[in-house]
Amino acid sequence: MQGAGDPDYDRFLIADPDGWVVYDTADELVGLPIDAEQQEGGAPIVVDGNAVGTLWATTGDLSGHSELERRFLDAVDRALLWAVLLVAVASLVAAAFLSRQLVAPLHKLTAAAEAMAEGDLSQRVVVRTRDEVGELAQAFNNMAGDLQAAQVQRRQMTADIAHELRNPLSIIRGNLEAVLDGVYPQDTEHLSPIYEETMLLQRLVEDLRLLSLADAGQLQLIRTDVNVSELLNGVAESARAAADDKGVDLRVDSPPDALYVEGDVDRLRQVIGNLVSNALCYTPRDGTIALRARQAEHLIRIAVTDTGQGIAPADLSHVFDRFYRSDNARDRASGGSGLGLAIARAWVEAHGGEIEVESTVGKGSTFQITLPRT
Ligand code: ADP
Repeated sequence: MQGAGDPDYDRFLIADPDGWVVYDTADELVGLPIDAEQQEGGAPIVVDGNAVGTLWATTGDLSGHSELERRFLDAVDRALLWAVLLVAVASLVAAAFLSRQLVAPLHKLTAAAEAMAEGDLSQRVVVRTRDEVGELAQAFNNMAGDLQAAQVQRRQMTADIAHELRNPLSIIRGNLEAVLDGVYPQDTEHLSPIYEETMLLQRLVEDLRLLSLADAGQLQLIRTDVNVSELLNGVAESARAAADDKGVDLRVDSPPDALYVEGDVDRLRQVIGNLVSNALCYTPRDGTIALRARQAEHLIRIAVTDTGQGIAPADLSHVFDRFYRSDNARDRASGGSGLGLAIARAWVEAHGGEIEVESTVGKGSTFQITLPRT
C-alpha cells in the first residue's frame, strides 16, 4: 500500500477505525478487512480530534503482484471465465437435447393414448430406446395390441351369436306362421321341429352363459374324488347305443389300479361326453373310438382317440376357439355351434388341467386331457 500524495495513484480506500473497508473506488474491498501489511501508509482521518478512519491512495492492484504475474493471472481469469461460459452453454445444450429425448416419446405416448381413448385401437408408438421410456412404450404397445385383439374377438363373437340365433329362429318362425295360417296342421310332425330348435337355442344360451362365467373365472366346481375308470366307463355306456348304430367300436382302456382325480364328476363327464360325441360325428362306420386313462407322476392323462377323418393342420390350432368349425363341419346340416370344445377347455382349466389335440387327416384325432392327481 502506498501513501497518499503520490500523483500516480488512481485508487482510494477508506477503512473505519477497526480496519474494515467502507469505501473503495474500485468497489472490490468494501465490507472486507484491510490486511495488516496493507494498513501501513494510510492517512488517518481525524474529525474533532477523533480518528474516524484511514484513507489510502494506491494503484488499482492491491495484491502486490508483478506485471508479469498480473498478466498471467488475468489470462487465467479470462480462461476460467471462458471455461465457465462454455460449460454453461454445453450444459444448456445437453439439457435441451436430453429433455427433447425424454419428452418427445412421452408426447408420442400421450398422443397415442388420447387417440385410443377416442376409439382408435390401432395406435402404436415406435420404440427405439431400451431405457425406461422404451419399456413404457413397449408396454403401451402390448396393451394396445391386447385391447385391439379383444375388440376384434368381441365383434366376431357378436356376429357369431347373431348367426347362430338366426337359423333356429327363422325355422321356428316359419313353422309357427305355417301352423297359424293353417298351412301346416298342429301335429307332432310340424310342431317337433319348433321344439327341437327351441332346445337348440336353450343349449346355445346355456353354453354362452357357461363361457361368460369361465371368462369371469366363476365356474363353480363341486369337487369330490372321482374314479377315472368309472367315469370313462359311464361315458362309454351312454354313447354305446349311438356307437353301435353307427357301427363304430367304442372301447375303454384304463389300468387295473383305480385312478382318482379331485374334480366335479358331472363337469368331467360333460367334457369327455363332448369329446366322445365329436369323435362319433367324425368317425366313419367300422372306425374305432378309444377312451384311455394313464397315470404320469402327479398327473392323470385321459385320451379320447378316434380313427376318424382327422383335423386339417390349419384348423388344429383353432378347434378350441369359440364358434370355430372347420369348413367340413360347417357344411354339415347337423353341425354344432362350435362351442363344445371351447366349453370343454374352460371346464378342464377350471380343474387346473389342460386339454390338447393331435390329429392326422385321414387317420384320426386324439384329444388328451391332463388333470392333477388326487
Ligand atoms: P361342434 O359343436 O361344431 O362340434 P366343437 O367345438 O365341439 O364344435 O368342435 C369344433 C370343431 O372341431 C368341429 O366343428 C370340427 O371341425 C372339429 N372337431 C372336433 N372334434 C373332432 C374330431 N374328433 N375329429 C375331427 N374334427 C373334430
